[in-house]
Amino acid sequence: MAGARKPVVEVRRSQRRRRTVSAYRDGERVVVLIPDQFSRAEESEWVDRMLARLAAREGRLARSDSDLLVRATRLIKLYLAEHGTQAVPTSVRWVTNQNGRWGSCTPADGTIRISHRVQDMPDWVIDYVLLHELAHLIVPSHNARFWALVARYPKSERARGYLEGVAAASGTPMTD
Ligand SMILES: [Zn+2]
Repeated sequence: MAGARKPVVEVRRSQRRRRTVSAYRDGERVVVLIPDQFSRAEESEWVDRMLARLAAREGRLARSDSDLLVRATRLIKLYLAEHGTQAVPTSVRWVTNQNGRWGSCTPADGTIRISHRVQDMPDWVIDYVLLHELAHLIVPSHNARFWALVARYPKSERARGYLEGVAAASGTPMTD
């Protein structure tokens, strides 16, 4: 997962800087530029803040449409392999115009759309939402056969609980 390993941080103090802090990645290191007048406490607070910001930015970039396709391909291989091409989407992409649903699919043309609201969730939740839609390519309705496919993913129940919690906390009823 992005940001799981703490990178080597190099703090550079600058007398020209008054308040601005910036950070960038330089190979394995992260360089954080801070004003020279910062105390040690401010330095450590800002280093943490900039590392979190950098990880969030990189995490979002990693979660592109092509990342979804890579995930889908892996999930099919792991859980839906015997269905062959039936479970393979023609396209899978992030969308921002889908507020009442975590994901949706059109079995007729094999397209899958995942809500941007899922984009910052943990990997195992994204995988659940994606697998749910992939399973719909095989079984369109929420019947026993469908749930049996979804249950092959070990964290299905946990992910459903997570999504229910997020929906309840935001006051938005969501369907899948
Ligand atoms: Zn569904």
